[in-house]
Amino acid sequence: TKYVYFFGSGKAEGTAQMKDLLGGKGANLAEMTSIGLPVPPGFTISTEACAFYSTHKENYPEGLREEVLEHLARLENLMGAKLGDTNNPLLVSVRSGAAQSMPGMMDTILNLGLTPDSVQGLIKKTNNERFAWDSYRRFMQMFGDVVMGVPHHEFERALQDVKDTRGIELDTDLDSKDLQEVIARYQRLYKRFTGEDFPTDPIDQLFKAINAVFKSWNNERAIKYRQMNDIRGLLGTAVNIQSMVFGNMGETSGTGVAFTRDPSTGENQFYGEYLMNAQGEDVVAGIRTPLSIETLKEVNRKVYDQLVDIRGILEKHYKDMQDIEFTIQEGNLYMLQTRNGKRTIFSWLRSQVEMVEEGLIDKETAVSRVPSGEFGKLFAPILDAKYIRDNSLEAITRGLNASPGGACGQIYFTAEKAEEMAAEGKSVILVRTETSPEDIGGMGVAKGVITCRGGMTSHAAVVARGMGCPCVSGAGEIKINEPKRFLEVNGTTLSEGDFISLDGFTGEIYGAKIPVKDSEIVQVLNGSMKESESILYRDYKAFMGFVQDLKVLGVYTNADTPHDTQMAVAFGAEGIGLCRTEHMFFGGDRIMSIRKMILANNTVEREKALAELLPMQRSDFEEIFLALDGRPATIRLLDPPLHEFLPNDHTSRHELALQMGITVEEVAQKSSALHEFNPMLGFRGCRLAIIYPEILRMQVRAIIEAAINVKRKGVEVLPEIMIPLVGNYKEFVFTKNHALEVIEEIFSEQSLKVPYKIGTMIEVPRAAITADEIAKEAEFFSFGTNDLTQLTCGFSRDDAASFLGAYVNDPDKQFYEYDPFATLDVDGVGKLVEMAVKLGRSANPDITLGICGEHGGDPKTIAFCNKIGLDYVSCSPFRVPIARLAAAQAVI
Ligand code: ADP
Ligand code: MG
Ligand code: MG
Repeated sequence: TKYVYFFGSGKAEGTAQMKDLLGGKGANLAEMTSIGLPVPPGFTISTEACAFYSTHKENYPEGLREEVLEHLARLENLMGAKLGDTNNPLLVSVRSGAAQSMPGMMDTILNLGLTPDSVQGLIKKTNNERFAWDSYRRFMQMFGDVVMGVPHHEFERALQDVKDTRGIELDTDLDSKDLQEVIARYQRLYKRFTGEDFPTDPIDQLFKAINAVFKSWNNERAIKYRQMNDIRGLLGTAVNIQSMVFGNMGETSGTGVAFTRDPSTGENQFYGEYLMNAQGEDVVAGIRTPLSIETLKEVNRKVYDQLVDIRGILEKHYKDMQDIEFTIQEGNLYMLQTRNGKRTIFSWLRSQVEMVEEGLIDKETAVSRVPSGEFGKLFAPILDAKYIRDNSLEAITRGLNASPGGACGQIYFTAEKAEEMAAEGKSVILVRTETSPEDIGGMGVAKGVITCRGGMTSHAAVVARGMGCPCVSGAGEIKINEPKRFLEVNGTTLSEGDFISLDGFTGEIYGAKIPVKDSEIVQVLNGSMKESESILYRDYKAFMGFVQDLKVLGVYTNADTPHDTQMAVAFGAEGIGLCRTEHMFFGGDRIMSIRKMILANNTVEREKALAELLPMQRSDFEEIFLALDGRPATIRLLDPPLHEFLPNDHTSRHELALQMGITVEEVAQKSSALHEFNPMLGFRGCRLAIIYPEILRMQVRAIIEAAINVKRKGVEVLPEIMIPLVGNYKEFVFTKNHALEVIEEIFSEQSLKVPYKIGTMIEVPRAAITADEIAKEAEFFSFGTNDLTQLTCGFSRDDAASFLGAYVNDPDKQFYEYDPFATLDVDGVGKLVEMAVKLGRSANPDITLGICGEHGGDPKTIAFCNKIGLDYVSCSPFRVPIARLAAAQAVI
């Protein structure tokens, strides 16, 4: 096997495609060399060598050492210099680099090859004594620290001692004599910590450094980094050995980093920083303030123009924004690294759209690159950064950036209080130790949510993300005193009603009132900003055009209100995949009517209560149909167990009793009669409609009458009536027949017909298993994967938290690759879905198939839905654009 790949003077054995073998850095050094850019020559030891080393007790594969030495000789030949030479020494850097960039790995060693002999050679060669000694002491420090683990601060202290005895402030004021003194101290320090002398054999130095890079692949930091970033299946790191160029040889030398476009906005503008007379990472280290790349024009016009040329060459070649490192040695430019630039989602969007416009890439490429996981950030409101700067505001604490967006409002510590104050028109920030399902109402009205406990997948985080509500979770420094209604954090006390601001992009929390702005995209969509005023919107619109052209899957929304429907349609929803009618029953008089319906003693009483509900439901549906403007609306009939609607508190029970002319005791009795041990498997779903068909009949009437009314206004309608929790096709036939009867009744009453469909949720495993029988009767299936997951896996959605985290995350378990309630469990539940799709289509080729569980907005699940040929996915309004993007990416 070949383990070492050479690059230098226009030729390279590797290419950019060989990242797995040469690492990103090595592959791109080879590529840049091949396309004629000025890259200091060198060679790359492959990741296969690292893999061998890790799995063979730190031994080399046969021939590796010889291969390295051969390539070193070749490099020495090319450079006309020799490692360790007393007249013309070659110096090299030793750099790690895996297929994916990994900050957890080894730091780079510069100036390797310096010894007491070769430093004399460097002095002769450069005629710069100070530079030579400084390079030597930098090398000793890096080698000691990185290869041998001598504490960095010990070197710093030795350096400081010399500066102190000489009464000097800056490193640059040390002269050759001082530096030799520093080196003497470094030698003693090295010996004290390692028990060895600092190696004076350059070959020994080289192999020690190579081994250190190999070992760094499995250091704690690196392992942790791979875990956290879900990096799997890599062989190891490559090692790059590259001849040194020096940015620290005086004022005509320098070093810098740059992006070919702006990494925060994506604007097509060269963006970078540099420092003259500096080496390596001085620019990023922040020792001196670097200058903007523009000013290099004045320092060295030739080099600046050359860099601008290279910027263009690299973008044309790689067809993406590049992040580069360069060094100028005595007026000559050298390229030391290029890679695809990391950037914000805003920069992703703009750079990709403009690259398509420039003809650099096609829209498939653009769509495939933009990370769907970050896409939602485009729509989040933002804290006014200028205001923060102008007022020098500092965060009082920080937590996890659980749900993106900026929010500002007044602090309330309970969901009830939050709802109450929001109703009074206050901007509310809900601050809780943690949230639970009872807090949903409060979260719904809050501008933002802060919790002291809980991670990125805590209740607060998940719900907030789903609602597009900014959230900082796990802000552990905050101590809440709920009874006394104040919080304390790092010496600041804030009381109920005080202003607080949070940044869900960063996790920062401010004890101040900071203006918040809607995302420009949202502003344009809701008409508060002109389209022509927003570059972000222009890019968004263009990009979604690419997405729309590519995707096959339909994207619908889960929406229960006209407002949600409007937002979803503006985001490109092609219909409603799930309208949960029970959400319409809360609030105002409605809850009273439904309670009366539940407590009714007989059909007559029940129908009376239902008659009160009919006009309210009908007008809701009318508004939703209007907002949909002809798009289909899948409306699910009443699903939850009835006791969820009944009041627990005395006041409400009293009021109910009064209205119904019964006693409070009777209300309490009825409530407890409805009590179930396992309500999720109890009297709910189509079972309600089967025992009380009048409920179904009222709902169907409301839907169809609303449709007719809207049609009379000249707007197309397409209602789809969905029966929940069917497990046996006979349940479906029974309920469908009732629905059909009502519909025919209305059609003749109104002498007007509307198109409609009747179908079912597939959420009980038995329904999936017998999908062919059901499909003969149903016009559509919608996979309700929340219930289907809980019933298939036997995990209660509400109780699984105690063990599911371990099931997914503990390294010795990982029974499920992802949380099965967030990403569809493809191997289990997915198999059931796939089977039901096949059975359903075989029995009824015209059947429409969709998914409406939480999973419908998850990119990995969407890829699966695309693969098994569903017609659409449905998700919450704010996830619609993300789902559209994921659907397009699934096709590419
Ligand atoms: P990282 O992966 O942390 O970016 P690098 O291997 O890119 O580490 O190197 C760290 C710094 O050293 C960078 O600024 C790089 O440009 C510089 N550097 C690396 N090799 C050389 C070299 N042969 N000559 C001059 N500078 C170098
Ligand atoms: Mg680098
Ligand atoms: Mg369900």
